[in-house]
Amino acid sequence: MAEVTLRDIEKTFHGKTTVIPDLNLHIEDGSFTVLVGPSGCGKSTLLRMIAGLETVTQGTITIGGEDVTTAEPSDRDIAMVFQSYALYPHMTVARNIDFGMRLAKVPSKEREAKVTEAARLLNLEDLLERKPAELSGGQRQRVAIGRAIVRSPGVFLFDEPLSNLDASLRNRMRVELAELHQRLDTTMVYVTHDQVEAMTLADCIVVMNAGKIEQMGKPMALYQRPETLFVAGFIGSPK
Ligand code: ADP
Ligand code: MG
Repeated sequence: MAEVTLRDIEKTFHGKTTVIPDLNLHIEDGSFTVLVGPSGCGKSTLLRMIAGLETVTQGTITIGGEDVTTAEPSDRDIAMVFQSYALYPHMTVARNIDFGMRLAKVPSKEREAKVTEAARLLNLEDLLERKPAELSGGQRQRVAIGRAIVRSPGVFLFDEPLSNLDASLRNRMRVELAELHQRLDTTMVYVTHDQVEAMTLADCIVVMNAGKIEQMGKPMALYQRPETLFVAGFIGSPK
């Protein structure tokens, strides 16, 4: 587990487009924090800055108390799962899950144990020798999550991981993600534009609008006591 703290964060693209003017956010150790807000409000940019895939223009980021503002993605205690699964098509499920650990030269005994454990957690045991093309969308997304799990990160970063799945699968995966959070005992930061997903998954919701935090708090607190019309409209009116 690890906390994430963003202090006075600004993000300006190409020296002219300020997407995030000045943002402060503390993500609690072990929480399931959901960043929610309309398309284009800066959710992915924020997550990518935490991951180190995007530089910050101003401000500092700490993960687990360590300043990682300028650290490489691989030197941060994180693993990220994207909307597009980005699996290697020519590799089996097992190899896909194993790949990052091979690169990091983790000993093979340990790698094997971790792949087995991830497969068990994610119900992939019977699929380990298949190729991605032989899997359903939900199974592929599980493999992508498996790749993150084996890194045993303090913080999982999810960017709309379920938005390519159909509604019933999305519901099932939601339940699985909540269970996973409990079992792994880690911090999860989860981006979505889906209010229902936010309400059901989060123990803390951060509502963003145009690069700013409108309000954050427990789901029911936001639902019952929205501080702005924007929050009321966003949390109060599921699609
Ligand atoms: P969200 O994930 O909430 O939909 P994003 O973080 O992807 O929003 O984007 C926020 C804003 O930043 C958008 O206006 C987007 O066009 C802009 N943006 C994102 N990436 C870049 C980039 N590499 N260069 C310029 N503008 C960008
Ligand atoms: Mg996005």
